[in-house]
Amino acid sequence: MTLSEVRRFLQAVATHLVERDAAAVKAALVGAKSEAVARGEQAEAKAIWCLEQVLDIQGRYLRAFDLLKHEEFYKAWCDLEQVEIRFVWLESHFRPAGDEYRLATIERLTLQLQELFPYAVFASAEIIAKEKQCTICGQKVSLRNPCGHRVGEIYDGEMCGREITDGELGGVSLTDKPANRYAVAFTGPEGERDHYDYSMLRELLARLQGPFDDWSVELSTAHLPHERYKDLGRNDSCPCGSELKYKHCCLKEPGVRVMHYQLWIGSRSANSPDPSLSWVKVRRGATREGEEA
Ligand SMILES: [Zn+2]
Ligand SMILES: [Zn+2]
Repeated sequence: MTLSEVRRFLQAVATHLVERDAAAVKAALVGAKSEAVARGEQAEAKAIWCLEQVLDIQGRYLRAFDLLKHEEFYKAWCDLEQVEIRFVWLESHFRPAGDEYRLATIERLTLQLQELFPYAVFASAEIIAKEKQCTICGQKVSLRNPCGHRVGEIYDGEMCGREITDGELGGVSLTDKPANRYAVAFTGPEGERDHYDYSMLRELLARLQGPFDDWSVELSTAHLPHERYKDLGRNDSCPCGSELKYKHCCLKEPGVRVMHYQLWIGSRSANSPDPSLSWVKVRRGATREGEEA
């Protein structure tokens, strides 16, 4: 398989889903890369590394879509995180033309899917590095003792990173903005640890045929009338999920603050201004518009 055949394969991602043989393409890229490195062709090796990331992004996005169809929500979330990370890696090395390899579409749909996940809090481990090693040359590196390789740059077709070879766990905290978002806080009872409400994703996926079907989502703030919460005391925690007392939070507002999600399936045009699906979301659960919160 030649590199131009590989490129044609990657261009056709949306139309050749069934007969997609990613393993053969991966093998072709690995072979071509080691030849390029042997010839000292750094630019070519880097271009092949970029194609490897494209293949990986496409593969993980397709797998995430499949996992979502099979209600494996957390596994799908982890693949979407990996997709997001690879887009960051690619950013400074590769500028796709338009929607080349469907990357722009995959990036947009990945972000949209992530918006519909109910996860909000993640565990984050703080690691204090005592010793780091360059993944390219293996040298121990510090600020005073650099090896000359730049983190994120591509050398011999591999991305340079730093591996922590000696470190200390500084502590684990719960945060809504961690470095990565794999450590979802599952707090459900034993046996059904995943207590999250995935109804938004379920309803979306039921309406999508394939991973490249177009859809869009719009988020805004809405207010639910206070009458819905008549049984709630002024000193109870606010139903918006802020963890403040009701009287110090939304009771001062026109209503209880919630997120309003509006989804359009297919291309959104002036002819179809009404959303296909609409929800308001209180805390981490979702309620269909009009239903009791
Ligand atoms: Zn190095
Ligand atoms: Zn509130």
